[in-house]
Amino acid sequence: MLVKSKSDCTHYILFTKEPIAKLFGGVSVAIFWLAKGGVRSKLQTVCENEHEARREIARKTPQIVLQLALKTFLAKISLMTDKLQSTDGIVLHVLPFRDYDKILTLYTRDLGVIKVIIRKSLMSKISRGSIDPLTRAEFVLSAGKNDLFRCEDISLQNQNLKLREHLPRLQAACDMAYAITSSQMLHKPSSELYNLFISFLERLPLISDPEILLSSFYIKLLRHEGLLLITDFCSICRAPLSNSYLAKGERFCKEHAPNYALSFSKTEAEMIQILNFSRSFRELSAMELTRAFAMKIKDFFTMTLRDSSIFLDR
Ligand SMILES: [Zn+2]
Repeated sequence: MLVKSKSDCTHYILFTKEPIAKLFGGVSVAIFWLAKGGVRSKLQTVCENEHEARREIARKTPQIVLQLALKTFLAKISLMTDKLQSTDGIVLHVLPFRDYDKILTLYTRDLGVIKVIIRKSLMSKISRGSIDPLTRAEFVLSAGKNDLFRCEDISLQNQNLKLREHLPRLQAACDMAYAITSSQMLHKPSSELYNLFISFLERLPLISDPEILLSSFYIKLLRHEGLLLITDFCSICRAPLSNSYLAKGERFCKEHAPNYALSFSKTEAEMIQILNFSRSFRELSAMELTRAFAMKIKDFFTMTLRDSSIFLDR
């Protein structure tokens, strides 16, 4: 039989009188229809699942919209919150601005040295006094133009009024504040240095000679900045030293000292090490510093900062 089409093929399989061909053909047709039915069933299931999924999504649409709106709202709140930053800080300098506003230079625990503008309206809310240098407070800040922050709120913590009762004490505190101003870059926080500054300001009223704490602060600050390397040997020839010369934060023998180096006796060099490493207020209180030695420490501090090119003449 000549098969010319699909219907001819089906007709041949079903109605042929050849038994083997008929059996083979019947099985093939059955498999074909079963397979076809399975595919149809699967397709139907997929379609039903898809419709069900769409119905499910449609049912949940109001919830999804609400969830998205809530997430957006929370994100905006978070953004607004992130713009406000609270930090503990000490006022280093106050500059009157316009008629009643002020620009403060602060040394803060979390942001280092920063400049902050404080409006007259906020100043009038501070009932317990004004914002003067050496005042410690909790500042709530928002980002302003360039590097200038805006002060949104202030909680006074300590106005350090005892520092203002004694001129040498006040002078030492102001010199510490100036040492911070002239050595710290903007926005370079150091909790270690901040804690040292706070601790020394609090202890200034408790010591008879404020210049001991000031000298120790200068030396510790140089070490904190990595500008101090005092050993018992000349930094160049390694010769053991008794009398020595200090410059660039190091000790030299007479032969290798720069011509501007400051001369220190062996006893004075040992006192510098106590000022440097002492962690005991009692030990510092027991020291006796001459005025000339204290002045040399101050000169050494300023000279070392200038040599290192980090002296900030603000
Ligand atoms: Zn030498």
